Amino acid sequence: MIVAMQESAKEEQIQLVIDRLVSLGFEVHRSTGARQTVLGGVGVPHDFDTREVEMMPGVQEVHRITSPYKLAGRNFRPEGTVVKFTNGIEIGGKKIVVMAGPCSVESKEQLFTVSELIAKAGARVLRGGAFKPRSSPYSFQGLGLDGLKLLREAGDRFKLLVISEVMEISQIELMLPYVDIFQVGARNMQNFNLLREAGKLTTPVMIKRGIAATIEELLLAAEYVMSGGNFDVMLCERGIRTFETATRNTMDVSAIPVVKKLSHLPMIGDPSHGTGRRDMVLPMARAAVAAGADGLIVEVHPDPDHAMSDGAQTLTPPQFTEMMQQVRAVAAAVGRSA
Ligand code: PEP
Ligand code: MN
Repeated sequence: MIVAMQESAKEEQIQLVIDRLVSLGFEVHRSTGARQTVLGGVGVPHDFDTREVEMMPGVQEVHRITSPYKLAGRNFRPEGTVVKFTNGIEIGGKKIVVMAGPCSVESKEQLFTVSELIAKAGARVLRGGAFKPRSSPYSFQGLGLDGLKLLREAGDRFKLLVISEVMEISQIELMLPYVDIFQVGARNMQNFNLLREAGKLTTPVMIKRGIAATIEELLLAAEYVMSGGNFDVMLCERGIRTFETATRNTMDVSAIPVVKKLSHLPMIGDPSHGTGRRDMVLPMARAAVAAGADGLIVEVHPDPDHAMSDGAQTLTPPQFTEMMQQVRAVAAAVGRSA
């Protein structure tokens, strides 16, 4: 950590800052320039808040150099994390893994029809919400346990792993027998109690970036899960809220290489929520793969125009097949496969 003192800082003020840093556990190195004194603090305590020093008289600015996340940081596992499943699927390896399926599980017919088609096109994971976080309490809230049972049945039948969203701690027990990956949704990215519980599981967890969350906050969400002992964590860029209204969200493609640089965790791109428009899903799926994503999660429905949620951003099965072809071409161009 670097503390730059103001040019006008008095010697007593500098000493008070040094004393404070020492009492916080830092080893302090002082450099006194012609005009300004700069203090270097080595050994930042985990819970250190730079504002504690920023507010002291005579301090101009404070910069943290080490990251506040230890387990999620790239240094912890420089070679990268590969999340491995019993059926041989690996997420974070050379092969890009595509997760696909409806926004919500609606019926057996809907789910089985789409599962068969996405499996044929090359998806390896079936997505589908059984518990839905809807903006309006009057919108379809999901089939709950019946939806989970259908997901497992379809997953087993078409040899797909299953991912589904957990909205609250009480749903974890209920979901355990049915899902291979727990999805923590954008709205719950900072539900710290839920993240802590997810840390006690041995089932992998995918955390979606909050709609107004920084990348650092996303990585700290992963740190919550990992600090509980569950290291099988994946992250997902699903678009953030900006001033732009042409798309539902602004898909921050640059978050993909940023996360890959800062962290060892696999990064998944979600061009469906990332754009909110069916016609933008293909280009942004290509972009995510080109940017280094380890996987994609995409909404697909046999009849998107009659979907009970997120129809506008949902692909038809033929569109998904086309997306897979294009994604394979892009993957090959960046030294990967899909
Ligand atoms: C979803 O995947 O359907 C979903 C609700 O995602 P998000 O949490 O990113 O909005
Ligand atoms: Mn959705």
